[in-house]
Amino acid sequence: MTNKEYSVQTIGVLHSPFKEKFAIPRQPRLVKEAVGHLQMLEPFNHEDFVRDLAQFSHLWLLFMFHQNLEKGYTPTIRPPRLGGNKKVGVFASRSTYRPNGIGMSAVELLDIEKTPKGITLVLGGVDLLDQTPIIDIKPYIPYSDIITEANGGFADEAPDAQMTVSFTADALISCERFEAQYPQLKVLIEKLLAQDPRPAYKKKRDDKQSYGVRLYNLNVSWDVIGGHSVVTGVN
Ligand code: SAM
Repeated sequence: MTNKEYSVQTIGVLHSPFKEKFAIPRQPRLVKEAVGHLQMLEPFNHEDFVRDLAQFSHLWLLFMFHQNLEKGYTPTIRPPRLGGNKKVGVFASRSTYRPNGIGMSAVELLDIEKTPKGITLVLGGVDLLDQTPIIDIKPYIPYSDIITEANGGFADEAPDAQMTVSFTADALISCERFEAQYPQLKVLIEKLLAQDPRPAYKKKRDDKQSYGVRLYNLNVSWDVIGGHSVVTGVN
């Protein structure tokens, strides 16, 4: 039997604060303040498609790891969770480099906005890049989706998010100024940096490098000093 090919259609585009992969949470709902807006596309941009969806508190998003598709996949990968040293099969991982490049995330449904332009779902706790193509949405159904006896293998517990975070006086003033435009910006930055997004081998270590990431239209920069992150700029 040959491997059959199927094509899928983008049903919507997820707009998120994350303009690059660095510092995106590794899984959904680790940072609930990471709010995304899923703009539905024609012909799915009609309220019939989301009728009664508001009854559900959470959704499954199926999406394409669009930024990695051209790079393909390898049969084994090194999960950051194992310190980047040990290889596991790609199907034993949530690697973004996988056959078919499909991702899945359970996120919180905060709102369904219906405007003359169409339907936008407001979603909390996203772990997706800005502009991620969404290929399906399904309600999260606790009676089936919660598996209390499940064993999480090498990822049995949520990743450590213990890094303490502070702001320089200037960075704090600047951050607070942007809060009107980007609600909860400060707590979003704090929670993203608490996860220490640096490569696994640097975990819990100081280093001399400064770090930066694009969040919304802003550049956020920080240093790691004494096992603590200091935000030095929000511009
Ligand atoms: N929850 C999903 C899953 O299990 O399929 C995603 C898990 S994956 C480990 C999460 C990472 O995917 C993020 O930290 C980010 O670096 C990366 N990512 C998110 N959106 C992406 C996209 N559209 N293309 C490529 N990589 C993406």
